[in-house]
Amino acid sequence: MRSLARHPAVYGSALLIVLTTLVGLAYLHGRQLALAKTERALDERVNAHKYYLQDALGKFSLTPEIIASMPEVKQALAQPSPENSASLTRLFDDVARGTQADRIFVMNTGGTAIASNVGPKLPAIIGENYGVRPYFQQAISGQTGHFVGIGKASNELGLFLSRPVAIEDKIVGVVAVRVSLSLEVFRSILKQYWKDKAEVAMIADEHGVIFSSPIDQWMYHTMAPLPAAVARELHAGRQYGDRKLQPLAMQIGESLTNEMRFVRFADIPNRVFLQKSYSIGEIGDRVYLNVNASQYWEPVVSYTIIAALIALATLLITIAGVQRWCYRTKLVEAAIHDPLTGLYTRLYMNDWIKNALRAHHRDEGAGFALILFDLDEFKLVNDKHGHLVGDTVLKEVGRVITSSVRADAMAVRYGGEELALFMRYGDSKEVLALAERIRSRLATSGVETSAGRLAITISAGVALHLPGESSNALFVRADEKLYAAKKAGRNRICS
Ligand code: GH3
Ligand code: MG
Ligand code: MG
Repeated sequence: MRSLARHPAVYGSALLIVLTTLVGLAYLHGRQLALAKTERALDERVNAHKYYLQDALGKFSLTPEIIASMPEVKQALAQPSPENSASLTRLFDDVARGTQADRIFVMNTGGTAIASNVGPKLPAIIGENYGVRPYFQQAISGQTGHFVGIGKASNELGLFLSRPVAIEDKIVGVVAVRVSLSLEVFRSILKQYWKDKAEVAMIADEHGVIFSSPIDQWMYHTMAPLPAAVARELHAGRQYGDRKLQPLAMQIGESLTNEMRFVRFADIPNRVFLQKSYSIGEIGDRVYLNVNASQYWEPVVSYTIIAALIALATLLITIAGVQRWCYRTKLVEAAIHDPLTGLYTRLYMNDWIKNALRAHHRDEGAGFALILFDLDEFKLVNDKHGHLVGDTVLKEVGRVITSSVRADAMAVRYGGEELALFMRYGDSKEVLALAERIRSRLATSGVETSAGRLAITISAGVALHLPGESSNALFVRADEKLYAAKKAGRNRICS
């Protein structure tokens, strides 16, 4: 940390990398959250559409079955006659009024219409042939027909539902019901959403042909180019009459999920949409819901900004905390060790002595000694070679002392060039011998400095702690011995 602080460029780039990473992570997470949020909103909207369609179209699902089981219908197919057809017409008019179906008609096994209701705007279809229409083919083969397409006579889009008519298990014809009005109403709802919310939903059949869209020119366009075989099949069944079924001009962008992607429409310039597709069972294959892409990007941006700010604040708080911790560590270190020599400080010494006094009070055998060293004529070293050389000498003397003693001894920088050494001992001779060893080591080898090797000597006073003696009294006695050593000519130990 200290070395980082000395290099602001390193420190700054490290910070920048951490911040960029945090913002990047926030952005990625923001995208996930925004995706879930937009998806929820889209799902709700599609569900609303689904419920509407279920409600509007579901009620017709049994109508063909009911009509197919009517004796009048079977009668008219078993014995075709203008009278039977006319009575069916009246019957179908009543049913159509009651159910709001647009067209109800019956075909014989050849696909030719033999009866139909006659609404005010309905063209007559008796005698028309519907043999190619998939809803006819589905019903004549015994299935329930379900088909969205354009009416041959009405030229109107409708949902066609069909059922076979059977007499004693033999299929004798087909009943079909066309529902158009509900699809028109649904489309007007889509138009309203487009107008109010700029939201585009379209429904496409299983081949991707759009048959409901708020934008008129998109009707009967396709979500993707149609394979030739499919185009032929649609044309043969006259599903969408003569409409060209061209692909919609849509540019597809990044996909967020299998069903979700960004798209642009040539008809709506300068706008990006987020599109999700849903399969719906009611009338077609898929609903494509398109909402403004900003619905997705806005939460991404706001989440990223908030997360980045939180990350920045956390980072700054952490840095401040680390700096405080480093500073505290340095303070504690400075309180314990002298920065120049690395020896213990007087503050630390006071604690050590307190414990040592207590231990000696309890146990006579736990005595300790104090050796008070003082450099000889140290002022002259400073005067002659400068303070920096003096510092080197002090440091080196400190090193000689610590390297000469056991780990349980304590060397203290007591004053400027006065160093105190505390040690436990077994025999008083041991203490004197140690002091003497240190003195002679220095006296023989001197100290290597930038000004060359200097002859350095040291004097010391030794005192052994007496049981019950105060630390002051101990120091006074050691100091007296030191003074005596100086007086006697320096470079010696007095005890
Ligand atoms: P004596 O033999 O009587 O002890 O002589 P002396 O010159 O060593 O004693 P004096 O007390 O007159 O001078 C002590 C000198 O120690 C004075 C001071 O400049 C020097 N001194 C104290 N602390 C430091 C320090 O941290 N660095 C340096 N370079 N000098 C220091
Ligand atoms: Mg001194
Ligand atoms: Mg001195």
